[in-house]
Amino acid sequence: MKESKKILIIGGGAAGFFAAIRAAENPSYQVSILEKSDKLLSKVRISGGGRCNVTQACFRKSQFLKAYPRGAKLLKVAFDEFDAKSTMDWFEKRGVQLKTEADGRVFPESDNSQTIVSCLLSEARRLGVDIEMNAGLEKIKPLLEGGFEIWVNGEMRFADKVLIATGGASKMAQYQYLYELGLKIEKPVPSLFTFALNDESLRALAGVSVSEVNLRAMGVEDAGAMLITHKGLSGPAVLRLSAFAALDMAKQNYTFPLFVNCLPQQNQEELREILLNARKDNLRKQMGKFSPFKEIPLRLWNLFLLRLRIAPSQIWADTTHKVINQLVEQLANLSLQVKGKNTFKEEFVTAGGVALENIDFKTMQSAKYPGLFFAGEILDIDGVTGGYNFQAAWTTGFLAGRAMAE
Ligand SMILES: Cc1cc2nc3c(=O)[nH]c(=O)nc-3n(C[C@H](O)[C@H](O)[C@H](O)COP(=O)(O)OP(=O)(O)OC[C@H]3O[C@@H](n4cnc5c(N)ncnc54)[C@H](O)[C@@H]3O)c2cc1C
Repeated sequence: MKESKKILIIGGGAAGFFAAIRAAENPSYQVSILEKSDKLLSKVRISGGGRCNVTQACFRKSQFLKAYPRGAKLLKVAFDEFDAKSTMDWFEKRGVQLKTEADGRVFPESDNSQTIVSCLLSEARRLGVDIEMNAGLEKIKPLLEGGFEIWVNGEMRFADKVLIATGGASKMAQYQYLYELGLKIEKPVPSLFTFALNDESLRALAGVSVSEVNLRAMGVEDAGAMLITHKGLSGPAVLRLSAFAALDMAKQNYTFPLFVNCLPQQNQEELREILLNARKDNLRKQMGKFSPFKEIPLRLWNLFLLRLRIAPSQIWADTTHKVINQLVEQLANLSLQVKGKNTFKEEFVTAGGVALENIDFKTMQSAKYPGLFFAGEILDIDGVTGGYNFQAAWTTGFLAGRAMAE
């Protein structure tokens, strides 16, 4: 009997499992997952606060792609084959009921990531995927006659096709074995972090949020909600900015000026008008007790007064034209100094990794080494929060698995 061909999947995470399951649908291949740790799908398990935000229910491709600071070009092609709708269908066909929250995030109806983990494990088991744990890839050598030699725990093995799905990594050294193959690696840096600020007056406002601000740093702008925390700033706008400016912020060692427009819906002329009217209509009111902007919580309004050395007890009648102009500047262009980064609910992704220029976008195969495939966060692809990172893992895993078993 002809021996079946061997597919080795390196990494038992979201991308690795998705690829293994798709590849194992072709019984002519023997599919194995090698996982370095003693845990499978560990990030799926802890993801989304233990609920697993599987994907984002946004079905306009152009809109979906805007969530990826890196990798949108590859995903534009890949999503034609397998997108968010395909992911939802895939899980639902296998008995996982999903629900979509108001902001588009998709979770299992159970609100428990174990539902996703169990689905992936039982599919892999049903299709006969062999799983080996405590088996870390150390080195890989492409053979002239085809196939690969793989070193795992000091032992050499053979595989016809190999998928590297080892996830993100924080240090260049972790990509060394790929670098030695002459593959281009984009320097890994963290993405999706919050901003650390050493600002006592801001710290006093921990818990205050503004539903729509415009943030500007390092030539990048983003809009959305912002939350003041006891360590600095967080919230969707901050996380998005951290993703889109991840490379430059790393170069600046996370020390950079940040400009916040707390009222982006109005231009400076309109803000001035509102302030002048507020003065006219509230002559005897104390400034610290009355903010003319319902979007700005009173505690934050008082921070602006503090920064301009205006006593909260000052009445509006005593506000000069100069002070009105200074207030406009503060509201539209609050200048802060970021002094570092913090993690967001321990969630982060790696920007950088295996460069996309030598990867076939429909198969995830390396142009340099036929038979060698890549999927998931090891690639220089990352998205903002909201299910986009898993979607990239499912899509690239699916395409790699399908191509490997062709
Ligand atoms: C706390 C947290 C919460 C998150 N929540 C969400 C969310 O809700 N939604 C979302 O879209 N994204 C989320 N993400 C991001 C998402 O988890 C990742 O983008 C996704 O898991 C990437 O999948 P992957 O398979 O490429 O890598 P991973 O899930 O990291 O899997 C890689 C696997 O490879 C193994 N491995 C590494 N090196 C080797 C080696 N040399 N040999 C063998 N095995 C190896 C690792 O042990 C690991 O099991 C979250 C991330 C974190 C950290």
